[in-house]
Amino acid sequence: MDFKFSAEDEAFRMEFRAWLERNMPRDWRDDGEMADPETKTEFERRRAWHRKLYDGGWMCIHWPKEYGGRGATLLQQLIYQQELDRAKAPPVVNFQGIARVGPTLMQWGTPEQKKRYIPKIPSAEEIWCQGLSEPNHGSDLAAVETRAEDMGDHFVVNGSKIWTSNAHHADFSTLLCRTDPSLPKHKGLSYLLVDLRTPGITIRPLIQMTGEHGFNQVFYEDVIVPKANLVGQKNQGWMVAMTNMMFERTIHGGRTDMLVEVRQLAELAKQVMRNGRPAWEDGYVRSRIGEFACIAEGLKYTSYRQLTRQLRGLQPGPEGSVMKLGTSNLNLEIQKFAMELLGPYSQYEYMAPGAIDRGKWSHRMLAARRATIAAGSNEIQHNIIGERVLGLPKG
Ligand SMILES: Cc1cc2nc3c(=O)[nH]c(=O)nc-3n(C[C@H](O)[C@H](O)[C@H](O)COP(=O)(O)OP(=O)(O)OC[C@H]3O[C@@H](n4cnc5c(N)ncnc54)[C@H](O)[C@@H]3O)c2cc1C
Repeated sequence: MDFKFSAEDEAFRMEFRAWLERNMPRDWRDDGEMADPETKTEFERRRAWHRKLYDGGWMCIHWPKEYGGRGATLLQQLIYQQELDRAKAPPVVNFQGIARVGPTLMQWGTPEQKKRYIPKIPSAEEIWCQGLSEPNHGSDLAAVETRAEDMGDHFVVNGSKIWTSNAHHADFSTLLCRTDPSLPKHKGLSYLLVDLRTPGITIRPLIQMTGEHGFNQVFYEDVIVPKANLVGQKNQGWMVAMTNMMFERTIHGGRTDMLVEVRQLAELAKQVMRNGRPAWEDGYVRSRIGEFACIAEGLKYTSYRQLTRQLRGLQPGPEGSVMKLGTSNLNLEIQKFAMELLGPYSQYEYMAPGAIDRGKWSHRMLAARRATIAAGSNEIQHNIIGERVLGLPKG
């Protein structure tokens, strides 16, 4: 692979960098900690920044022009992300809508659904969440039990979805539900679009161990969903859900910036003491950090291999699972080692007075577990790699 960007790509980089310099709020840099906008005010602040990017033509750049994007190439998307990271740009909203729901609707939606829903996703006028997991069915998603009964011109939905990120900010949810319990489990499912203001829906918060209200349990009791909100064919929702999941894993597998975390860990080692000397002077500490740097470098090149496949128009390979597993495990190990370096200081909470680095390491430690579960747990990624890469028999 050629690691250099073309002159055209570099011009694109400079254009976006200049736009960010002119338009980014002066007093607001993302410190990468609180993933969830805790309050309505914070959510609206993020939405206003999102809207500014959108109005400037810098939102959903990878979407086709007909849907409000720029039709950016894969390399331009990479550059776009690099520039946002470089500038420490504040977070935006509507992640599920942009990364998953919009692209799924482009592939499966009716012309009416595309016209009605897609344009309000990039502008964040309407916020989306996704209702896939249930209390008894996460990894085994095809076994979902939420029922949607066909009443002619509408469905009546009963059941519950869990771990629904952002439902408390959302206007709409996608919903994978069972429309025919007599069919084999993958075949009796349908994929619906649900207006969360419909009577019969209750959204209850679930608070993560970081203290963030990231996700929710959503209850459906005799909820009426018009037939016009069915995506794809009735009882063929599994195929639609798989498209959704493909976008989900591509996103989660795409992180390439673990070296940033390793560098921050090295900075921490220079700040804290070990045996009366800065920890950085200890050979064991340096060898551990060196080991993390090697893994991070390896993951970077694995992600480039993934990018090369995409640039050649090939189907996604096993790199997505390797990246998801590798980055979430490395992140966890980095945070655990930060706890070791901090010793008793690791007990300070995020933003506690007197905490080293504003207590960000303890927050990161608590947050590190979620990436090992979301978008298909690490055990499931092990199964995929074992079966599809190593050719091992099914467990
Ligand atoms: C931060 C976060 C955000 C999320 N957001 C959403 C969202 O917006 N919408 C949504 O629908 N869901 C969401 N989820 C749910 C997520 O998709 C599920 O948690 C995940 O798929 C695992 O399912 P589960 O929690 O039911 O665990 P289970 O499937 O019950 O698994 C429990 C344990 O058993 C292991 N296990 C299960 N099956 C196997 C197997 N075949 N082989 C080996 N081990 C196995 C798992 O790895 C896990 O350790 C989110 C989760 C997190 C952590």
